[in-house]
Amino acid sequence: MQLQRSVIICAAIIANTNLFAQKDPPTTEIWKPEVKVVTPGKTNNDAPSDAVILFNGTSASSWKHANGDEAKWTVADNALTIKPGTGDIQSKQKFGDCQLHVEWRIDKNVKGENQDRGNSGIFLMGHYELQVLDNYNNINKTYVNGQAGSMYKQTPPLVNVCKAPGEWQTYDIVFTAPRFSDNGSVIIPAHITVIQNGVLVQNNTTIWGNTEYIGSPFYEKHEAKESLVLQDHHHITSYRNIWIREL
Ligand code: MG
Repeated sequence: MQLQRSVIICAAIIANTNLFAQKDPPTTEIWKPEVKVVTPGKTNNDAPSDAVILFNGTSASSWKHANGDEAKWTVADNALTIKPGTGDIQSKQKFGDCQLHVEWRIDKNVKGENQDRGNSGIFLMGHYELQVLDNYNNINKTYVNGQAGSMYKQTPPLVNVCKAPGEWQTYDIVFTAPRFSDNGSVIIPAHITVIQNGVLVQNNTTIWGNTEYIGSPFYEKHEAKESLVLQDHHHITSYRNIWIREL
């Protein structure tokens, strides 16, 4: 009986302590470690202090072709412009999870239709293409999972917020790399959020595997960090102000 009473008293004290704790604000406050300070850019398009600058308007030295040659694309007027036929370029530094800012412009004299109109693309980790194309005002008809802002041949953009050819556009991207098991199977697929010209077009979208022109996407195991790739689709499309933050 004495023991039973002691147990009841102990339980009451613990319950009271918890009740007290729940009413005490500091018990749910986290003070350490402090959050790292990052200085933002002058505008939200400008690189913050912890970003890696991949193109600052004057040099393509952060890029190369697949065969190791220095990037042969044209650097002029603060822009990096595709020189058709020279091939894709890839970042020398490799990245996994990241925040990426890219500005792109369709040539104002763009010609062609469907996929043959200002086509380029941003391949996250060299495998997963966020499409670049002229789709201003839905004038250029193409499959919707192949238009600008789509994860190519996978997921259309939520809305078409494209600007006219000749105008600079922005992509702000948050990318989570896929996680693979030792045997090569995918444990967690990649995810991507894309804000185009300030408007959400991909909302934590699941990426189903490598970008495939023909057939369904599937994953192939790759490194935890891979090069970012910009596509030469034989059209004159330009890039500028490319920066990335490793997450
Ligand atoms: Mg493309």
